[in-house]
Amino acid sequence: MHLRDPVSDLRGVGPKKADLLKKMGVHTIQDLLLLLPHRYEDTSRLISLNQASPGQPSTFLVEIVGARPGFYGQKPRRDTFQVRDSTGQASLVFFNQPHLVKRLKVNKTYYVYGNLDYFRGQAQLVNPKIEEEKRRREIGRIIPIYPQVEGLKSTEISRLVTQALAQVKDIKEILPAYLKNRYGLLPLREALAQVHSPSDMDQAYQARQTLVFHEFLIFLLTLMVVNKREDTQGYKMEDRGLVGEFLATLPFDLTPGQAQVWEEVSQDLASGKRMRRLIQGDVGSGKTILALLASLRVIENGYQALFMAPTEILASQHYQTIQDQVEPLGLKSEILLGSTRPKRRREVLEAVETGACDLLVGTHALIFEDLKLNKLGLTITDEQHRFGVDQRRRLADKDPHAHGLIMSATPIPRTLEQVYYGDLDISTVEGLPQGRKPVKTLAINQDLLERSYDFIRDQLAQGTQAYVICPLIEESQALDLEAAQAVYEDLAARVFPDYRVALLHGQMPGPDKEAIMADFQAGRTQVLVSTTVIEVGVNVPNANILLVYNAERFGLAQLHQLRGRVGRGQDQAYCILYSKDPSDKAILRLKTMEESNDGFYIAQRDLDLRGGGDIFGTRQSGLPAFRIGDPLEDSDILHYALIEARAIVDGGHLNQEEEPGLNEAVAAFYLRVVKEED
Ligand code: ADP
Ligand code: MG
Repeated sequence: MHLRDPVSDLRGVGPKKADLLKKMGVHTIQDLLLLLPHRYEDTSRLISLNQASPGQPSTFLVEIVGARPGFYGQKPRRDTFQVRDSTGQASLVFFNQPHLVKRLKVNKTYYVYGNLDYFRGQAQLVNPKIEEEKRRREIGRIIPIYPQVEGLKSTEISRLVTQALAQVKDIKEILPAYLKNRYGLLPLREALAQVHSPSDMDQAYQARQTLVFHEFLIFLLTLMVVNKREDTQGYKMEDRGLVGEFLATLPFDLTPGQAQVWEEVSQDLASGKRMRRLIQGDVGSGKTILALLASLRVIENGYQALFMAPTEILASQHYQTIQDQVEPLGLKSEILLGSTRPKRRREVLEAVETGACDLLVGTHALIFEDLKLNKLGLTITDEQHRFGVDQRRRLADKDPHAHGLIMSATPIPRTLEQVYYGDLDISTVEGLPQGRKPVKTLAINQDLLERSYDFIRDQLAQGTQAYVICPLIEESQALDLEAAQAVYEDLAARVFPDYRVALLHGQMPGPDKEAIMADFQAGRTQVLVSTTVIEVGVNVPNANILLVYNAERFGLAQLHQLRGRVGRGQDQAYCILYSKDPSDKAILRLKTMEESNDGFYIAQRDLDLRGGGDIFGTRQSGLPAFRIGDPLEDSDILHYALIEARAIVDGGHLNQEEEPGLNEAVAAFYLRVVKEED
């Protein structure tokens, strides 16, 4: 049997079991072995009855001295036994287990495992595990408890794992010996055996650490291979005056934070090496201008720039700003979207190919297009968190000497930077443009909803505009869409009858979305009810109110993004977070939004409250989620795995001759990453 074989090759796994396993992400033998127990029952701790402490499950060796059986038809059926050892006595209570109790005999000795507690002053164990002294099989061991699905017991999984471990032939060592020695890690086969059936809790711990280290190391090495950070030559971009000319036309100066980052970017561009830089900064910190400056720098050197946004709305909006700003300088920009008509598309593609077009704006789909560029000098990717490793690789393939700039408004804590952007240099735009007033935020419940409407009406009367956001969650799209529709109708007919209200959602055809956005941008509509399509990047400075329905359904980082849509103009901006969920946890989370306007602080709080898995799952990060390790909880392992991965890559040791095991593991993982993204 091999790791790649389907689990259905195991004895006892028919189509039904196979389906249940699939639900847990287990398709192959390897998947099964990597399905780790989420906890253990340590039944190896044998103590006497008088040593028991409530809440601490333990094993006891006791004699049954009396029985008070339940009876047929009793609900629930309840069988009670008196037991004792040399130190004391207790009763065992079994609910609804007639088959089990049938076998128990007075005057015999048993191992019992459970939680000894007191009920009316009496020591008792409810539904303990029990085995005859002579026939003990489970008790005394450390029993793995697996994640549960209906219809598949933990003990069954455990038996399948044992079977697989006994039969699988091709578990090869992956880690070099020096790493195992350095960190006290187990050989891989032993780690797998120990994690599923540990001889003691220390071994279980060590086994898990070993597997997490494997997972992180292979992940990091793959990342480093995918994004080889060698000093590739890059086109040299010199200062020919265009950037200065452009800056002089702006109604504002760069903030010190922007100036600092521009300094770093322009140095990269002039260095003769390929730039691969991430610019991160809070919403509204002014990252777009920096992308534009970089574009101008390559254009004045005779190259083209490619600007990619995650959605058509954003691409259109960037295009408008860019067009307004670069055309006066005598430059030509174009836009290419999924919805662009064939004739127009041909024209744009030709302009790009001949070099007539200096700057091309589009959605991320652009990189999959058969674009022929005349002289690509720079690719810019806005809002990186929707962008995967493989896409980054494809971008690099367009032209290995073209520079790359990635912009992200999703702040990530320092400890995780390396994992997600280990291949990039990072610049942070500190601070916001002057005169920005922090958005005033209020979390409300039903009681205040109508008063909020009054408040919004007052604001609209002063000529401002408002966003109303309704969440759209994939699992219940149809229902959510109905809800959004209902909100829209209520607002249009009853709440804001004197204003123009529009509805925007993701399923609309592209041109409709653009038309609705354009109306809002131009002030022809005053209230925009929207599903989260406006989440990132939209810029309508006259909109100063944001009302979010079902705010509890959003992550804080996402709410912060949404809130970034307002407070872009001179007026005081307001964000109202409406939630029906009265639980403390929900309120606590939303209060964080009242407290702070700092994206980094909010991201950290969100991590604390929700844990890393949720936030950095596959969808948002574009990276496969970890199966075993947790980059936050296991951050120390991550730290060392990173050091070692770097050393291996920098030393050029990741090859078949030196590290065959690692080399193969990375190759296999790489294939998985690429396959998942395609
Ligand atoms: P983000 O970093 O969220 O992408 P944007 O680039 O969209 O932010 O900028 C937000 C707004 O701030 C835009 O309207 C932009 O014109 C304006 N802006 C950018 N830089 C400055 C500055 N230095 N001073 C004043 N306003 C600025
Ligand atoms: Mg932006």
